[in-house]
Amino acid sequence: MKEETARRADLRIDVGALRRNVAVLASRAAASGARTMVVVKSDGYGHGAVTVARAALAAGADELGVASVTEALDLRAHDITAPLMAWLHGPGEDFRPAVREDVALSASSLETLHEIAKAADQVGRTARVHLKIDTGLNRNGCPAHLWHELVTAAARAEDTGSVRVLAVWSHLACADELDHPSIDEQAERFHAAYVQARRAGLSPERHLANSAATLTRPELHFEMVRVGIAAYGLDPVPEHGDHGLVPAMTFRSSVVLTKRVAAGERVSYGHTWTAERETTLALVPVGYGDGVPRVLSGRLAVWLADALRPQVGRVCMDQIVVDCGDDPVAVGDEVLLFGPGDHGEPTAADWARELGTIHYEVVTGMFRPRVSRTVVEPEVTT
Ligand SMILES: *Cc1c(COP(=O)(O)O)cnc(C)c1O
Repeated sequence: MKEETARRADLRIDVGALRRNVAVLASRAAASGARTMVVVKSDGYGHGAVTVARAALAAGADELGVASVTEALDLRAHDITAPLMAWLHGPGEDFRPAVREDVALSASSLETLHEIAKAADQVGRTARVHLKIDTGLNRNGCPAHLWHELVTAAARAEDTGSVRVLAVWSHLACADELDHPSIDEQAERFHAAYVQARRAGLSPERHLANSAATLTRPELHFEMVRVGIAAYGLDPVPEHGDHGLVPAMTFRSSVVLTKRVAAGERVSYGHTWTAERETTLALVPVGYGDGVPRVLSGRLAVWLADALRPQVGRVCMDQIVVDCGDDPVAVGDEVLLFGPGDHGEPTAADWARELGTIHYEVVTGMFRPRVSRTVVEPEVTT
């Protein structure tokens, strides 16, 4: 692999890992006859939506999914022509650009369906629509008691050519908890909604499974799965076994200064850490302004000069200090804050555990104006 020197604060995005993960997921979906949508919302979970979209499509993804129309149009502006769906709309959203760019739109209500149909008529094209049924997450999605009205209206709008209903879909609440009873309950409600849609005269496909359900519930793959987190190499159900996913993001920096300090010297704001013996400190130019949470002060470890070493004292806005004992460390040495873990560096899942959150939030929160992203392509082998 082509390696570049770590900059001050850099996210290294491993395209080879993205491709391998998508290939793993797409082959699981294909085994049950399903297509694969890769979800690249929130700038590809912090990895870069365009980078991920291209890698995913090269590795066998059939479609892409995003939350907002703005995200979808940004992909189109980068010449990504694959089938693309957006599912969460603002009030008064102008759907005309999406219809023009052939972005499929989710509708959870009659109002949204009408707005999409109106936009389609104005643009002079048929809008592609996915109708979302709420099967128990109680977030967006059409409540069951309004579903009949929605599918009936959608069938009428199909007749006039305003819309084409591609799919009925829903989202699971507890797919990452193996055998959670809500999964089967939601699947039953989903089936009932699908039957109603067909009776209304629609012939939609179905999609329900997120990453966790793609990995654990093949009977819920239907015609398409929607994978997000697993494509990035972060396993939502590690207790289910090793799925062979490789984390694609490495957060790295470099040592910018080293110094020997005497026993009794204290470090960083508030002097919360005291050197018990003479030691070498390494200064690393990343802080909470670069996504290193201050709440992890004194609880982080970083991989530096072939060892896992403790970060000491408070995390500052721009810098952290690492205790290196008597080991030789030098300015320019690479520092891994988290990554796939192959060298012994912490993982995003380790950070999440320390923070009391999930690895989704760790990677999605990393990209900031001061942090660079280096996209590493696999070397072409001949
Ligand atoms: C984010 C999202 C997904 C992907 O979920 P993962 O758990 O990351 O696989 C799928 N569907 C919807 C509606 C989503 O919002």
